[in-house]
Amino acid sequence: MTNLLYQTDAYLQEFSATITSVDTETHAVVLDQSAFYPGGGGQPCDFGSLDVGGVIYSVDKVKKQGDDVLHFLGGTSPLPPPNSARVAHGTLDWVRRYQLMRTHTALHVLCGTVFRDYGAKVTGGDMDPLKGRMDFEFESMRGELVRDIEAAVNHEIQKGLEIRVKILPRDEAFQIPDLIRTKINLLPEGIMQVRTVEIVGLDLQADGGTHVMNTSEVGRVKVADYKSKGAINKRIYIEIE
Ligand SMILES: [Zn+2]
Repeated sequence: MTNLLYQTDAYLQEFSATITSVDTETHAVVLDQSAFYPGGGGQPCDFGSLDVGGVIYSVDKVKKQGDDVLHFLGGTSPLPPPNSARVAHGTLDWVRRYQLMRTHTALHVLCGTVFRDYGAKVTGGDMDPLKGRMDFEFESMRGELVRDIEAAVNHEIQKGLEIRVKILPRDEAFQIPDLIRTKINLLPEGIMQVRTVEIVGLDLQADGGTHVMNTSEVGRVKVADYKSKGAINKRIYIEIE
């Protein structure tokens, strides 16, 4: 089982850990704890490097498998032998991760603003560093509306709203009305704790991703494009400047 360090400290760029298993076939290692985000919820995985006894491996892909986080290592250096407890030091590609944190937060501001102003729910989303898209239950969308949304989103960002992350017992989270609308009820029964991400006064979601601490870190958001994806589904593309 890997302790997910990014869940309680999204700003952790380096960490020490112990290798708990090695898969020579896929060239991957499992660590007892990790700051690498394994991907999920529309946010792509982190990249970076892992130093094992002075041998530096690139971390080319990170993936969750059950309770473990697999770190796929690049290069041709042989992996540390299986079943040998080895200390490792991980370093994130922080430029990429911080861009993803800003982008992910911008999408939450978009989602919270559109729900507040138009009552439209999100049906899907995806992101890359500094750009993302989100689908909403909207019947029609015009250029004028999109410009209003862009202005409202930037207004919220400029307010410097605080972002709070909490890990709550399942029962407690299920009593929060704002979380019900984000389909929290679809969480598998075995999950006993729910991580919530709140942009104070604007948005509250059950979310496993990484976000900045204050909306002022996001920067200016531009609505780059929008398109219809069906009768009641409209897609908004954003870019972070
Ligand atoms: Zn999110």
